[in-house]
Parts: sequence; structure tokens; C-alpha cells
Amino acid sequence: MDFAFTPEEERFRQELKEFLRRELPEWWRGMFVHDDRVFPQTRRFCQELAERGWLTMAWPPEHGGQNASVWKQAILREEMWAHEEPRGPQYMNLNYIGPCIMRYGTEEQKRRFLPPMAKGTVIWTQGFSEPEAGSDLASVRTRAEEVADGFVVNGQKIWSSYADAPADWCFLLVRTDPSAPKHRGLSVLLVDMRTPGITVRPIDSMAGPHELNEIFFDDVKVPRNCLLGEKNRGWEIVTAGLAFERAGIARYARAGRVIELLTEYVQQTHCDGQPLAANLDVRRKLAELRVRYEAARLLNYRAISLQARGQVPVVEASIARLHNTQLEQLVGHVGMEILGLGGLLTHADPQAPLSGSVYRQWVRNIPTTIAAGTLEIQKNIIAAQGLGLPRQR
Ligand SMILES: Cc1cc2nc3c(=O)[nH]c(=O)nc-3n(C[C@H](O)[C@H](O)[C@H](O)COP(=O)(O)OP(=O)(O)OC[C@H]3O[C@@H](n4cnc5c(N)ncnc54)[C@H](O)[C@@H]3O)c2cc1C
Repeated sequence: MDFAFTPEEERFRQELKEFLRRELPEWWRGMFVHDDRVFPQTRRFCQELAERGWLTMAWPPEHGGQNASVWKQAILREEMWAHEEPRGPQYMNLNYIGPCIMRYGTEEQKRRFLPPMAKGTVIWTQGFSEPEAGSDLASVRTRAEEVADGFVVNGQKIWSSYADAPADWCFLLVRTDPSAPKHRGLSVLLVDMRTPGITVRPIDSMAGPHELNEIFFDDVKVPRNCLLGEKNRGWEIVTAGLAFERAGIARYARAGRVIELLTEYVQQTHCDGQPLAANLDVRRKLAELRVRYEAARLLNYRAISLQARGQVPVVEASIARLHNTQLEQLVGHVGMEILGLGGLLTHADPQAPLSGSVYRQWVRNIPTTIAAGTLEIQKNIIAAQGLGLPRQR
């Protein structure tokens, strides 16, 4: 088995690195810092990517892609995450909302929704979780009642990332048949966020701006042509979407970049007349991070290779996600230990070591083992679907 990228793929990676060096402003520190320049910058950046055909490169040409290999796409994802995801929320369109529309949408929906994603001009938010339905997602109560020309939606979603960006559309999970067993009465609606009756309320959190929001739906009218797939078959779409989402984020690439930064730091920094790099504890911890990083990378590649064959990598995505999120947290913790109190300084402080990268790695990843399904839920999926153990009741 050869896990190496081809020379052409390596050339593409270099081209991307140069592009990122040119295009990213000096102040860029990722999406979740309080800075009004962030969102306009992500929009501009995505349009630059789209002009080069890179934003949705692995999609078919009829939907605005270039039929590029999923491996080339994986390289792009890695370089984006290594640079604190300058695509902003667009990665969600590319990773799972677009693929779900391609898989389950009508021809009219594909023509309508995919080209704006390929051009980088549209922001989507995910409306799955509710106050009483997170891990037990199939318990959602937001109700979509069928009327003559579509649906009327009432209910509440919570933790919806980027809803206040503002998002243009919502990928919304609703209950369409309250009398059916809970997994069978669900549907997915594609909802225009400008429809009357929608209210977005941001939730302040340590994760930074735009990350978390509540969305309220009061008699929101959704036309019939915005139902994705069949009515009451939404659970299948959500399962596929979550697997694509879990496998689609190259979290290990950011962790890998922070490991590189820490490695440079310990070589340049002295403590008691010795370089930190000579400290046995520091060396052992960095070596351990490197091992875990390589494992995370390969586990992701395994999920990607199944996707490349048209499969939905449910168990493999959960395994990769579990390993990736734990790696991200560990890199943050080890980084904090190495930097000491200086690690608590944010990018806003000129004294912050490594421009606050370690602080961001640490604080941003506290909730990372919760989003897209908690660690416990990933383990339940692996136990039931990977090991064949009985499902939890
Ligand atoms: C940063 C971030 C971004 C998010 N973005 C979005 C978004 O864009 N859209 C969206 O819809 N949601 C989003 N979420 C919500 C996320 O999907 C939920 O928070 C998550 O699924 C957990 O649900 P919950 O918070 O209701 O916790 P609960 O489901 O109440 O879980 C509480 C605890 O109980 C444990 N638990 C629950 N059930 C089981 C079980 N069966 N077996 C073992 N342990 C169990 C959980 O692991 C957890 O530790 C986001 C969350 C975060 C943190």
C-alpha cells in the first residue's frame, strides 16, 4: 500500500501554499476571533478559490466542479485547515450540504442550489440540534405541517453554527409525521433564512463569534420544492450528511501545523541556559503528538478512500473523528504546558508567543468533542455498526 501523494498532487500542494501566502492578510487568525474583517475576508477568499475552480474541485463539472480526485480535494482541505480555515463556513457546503443535495436532490434543486455554492457566494447553516434533541437527534420536535403548497414550520433549533453570519439558507431537520416511529417521521427542508417568521439569536461562548446560535421558527412557510429527498425519509439524509461532515474536516492538519510551530519554538527558546528542546519531558510529549497526528491523518484517508468509491463511511468517519478531536485537544494541552503562562495570551497581545496559535488551539477545541456528535455517540456508532454489538435502547 502506497500512501504517498503523486508528484502532480505535491505540485498542487505547493501551488496552494504559495496562493495562501499571497492571499491571506497578515492579520488573519481564523474565523472565530472578534474582528469585523473576518467574514468579508472569507467571502473574498472563497471567490478567489472559486475563480480558480478550487472551491468545489471534486464536484462534477455540471455542478460547478472539475471532477478532481478526492485526494486533490483532501490536499486543499489540509492546507485550508492548516491555515485556520480561510474558507469560513463554505467548507460545510463543500463537505456535506452540497454532496447531500447531489445525492438526494431533484434536478431542479441541483441546478438551483449547487452553482452558488461552487461560486462561493452562499452561506448555509445546519439546523439539526434542539434543546431536547442533541445526541438523541431523532427526537427532534420542530414540526413541519404539510399544507397545500408546501410546509409550515414551528419550533426551535440550537447550536447552529454561522446562522448569524448571516446564513442565507438552513439545512433543516423537521418532524413531518409525529405518529410514526421517531426515525421514520423526519424530513429535511432547505429553508431560505430570509423567510418571515425566522429569528436568529447568537449565544455568547468561549468558542468565539458566529459559532453558536438559536433559531426560532414561527409559522415559517417553506415551498414544496424545498423538501430534500422523500418526505419522512430524512433520517437517511442526516446519517449520510453527518458521516460526510465528520470525515470532511482536516482537523489533524491544524493540529499538525501547531505541532510544527511548537517544535520550532522549543528549538529557539531557552530555559535555565538549556534549549527547551533538550528537556526530556518536552521531547517525549512532542514525539507522542507526532505519532498521534500521523495516525489521525491515515484514519481520515481511510474514510476518504471509501467516499472516493461512492460509499458513506459511517464507522470509519466516527473512528477518524474520535481520534482527530482527541488529538486536537491534546495538542492544545501540551502546547499550554510548553508555553506556560504566556500561552494564555491571545493574538491581540503583541507579546503572545506564536501569535496566540496555541491559545486558539486550546480554547477552540474544548467543545470539539461535542460538535457533530459527542465522543460517546461516536463510540456508540463504532460499537453498534463497527463491532456489531446490540444497539443502545
Ligand atoms: C462548537 C459546536 C458547534 C455545533 N454546531 C452545530 C450546528 O451547526 N448545528 C447543529 O444542529 N448542532 C450543532 N452543535 C450541537 C451538537 O451537535 C450537540 O451539542 C451534540 O450533538 C450533543 O448534544 P447536546 O448538546 O444536546 O448534549 P446531550 O445529547 O444532552 O448529551 C449530554 C451528555 O450525555 C452524553 N450522552 C447522551 N446520550 C448518550 C448515549 N446514548 N450514550 C452515552 N452518552 C450519551 C453525551 O455524550 C454528553 O456527554 C454544535 C455543538 C458545538 C459544541
